Amino acid sequence: MNTNVDPAELEKFSELAHRWWDPQSEFRPLHEINPLRLDHIDRIATLQGKNVLDVGCGGGILAEAMAARGARVTGIDLADKPLKVAQLHLLESGQQVDYRRIAVEDLATESPASFDVVTCMEMLEHVPDPAAVVHACAALLKPGGHAFFATLNRNPKSYLFAIIGAEYVLNMLPRGTHDYERFIKPSELSSTCRRAGLEIVNLIGMTYNPFTKVYALEADTDVNYILSTRKPAQS
Ligand code: SAH
Repeated sequence: MNTNVDPAELEKFSELAHRWWDPQSEFRPLHEINPLRLDHIDRIATLQGKNVLDVGCGGGILAEAMAARGARVTGIDLADKPLKVAQLHLLESGQQVDYRRIAVEDLATESPASFDVVTCMEMLEHVPDPAAVVHACAALLKPGGHAFFATLNRNPKSYLFAIIGAEYVLNMLPRGTHDYERFIKPSELSSTCRRAGLEIVNLIGMTYNPFTKVYALEADTDVNYILSTRKPAQS
């Protein structure tokens, strides 16, 4: 039994799961950032024909989009309802994704070194021990494979934007969605990745302009960011 999970976090996502694919719902930010992160991942790792694992896939917004780019995608999560929603949505989209309810650490024991690409987006900030997740992701990668981690930075600006702004002023996210203590600085995540044997390939920020309501990938990593890494090829 895996203990690196906060049941209250899974409950939060299960409660909202039926609205996952409504682009105007609480999941709107995930829908809006999806084309940006998808292109970013595809540019760095070339998804076509790759074996891809999406860790903490939720309702499958990214997993399906990667499948549509020609990847063979496995999506894992520990929350039941989001996985059911993800599975049902395949009927609508006609995409193929293999969804499983399994902890990433358990999958790493079951099938190490079996994926070309591992994505773990907006999930680490909901987990008690994010380093264990990063290590499992590294173990799941084939040599030369890429892992992508997206999470929230920890500083006064991210507190203001990601919690006060998004949850209290703009009401974009339900209150209590995020816990500031669990935010992770890019420097901390980079160290964790290096300890797990991953090389840092790229760090980019994901910004939101509340006036234009436009999301963008740019140098500013103060709030949301994506860290791209690679497992060295065997010599
Ligand atoms: N990665 C998706 C969903 C992000 S929402 C996307 O970016 O579109 C966060 C997801 O992490 C939820 O589906 C939640 O159930 C999942 N999650 C939280 N803790 C987890 C854990 N310990 N193991 C696996 N998934 C977890």
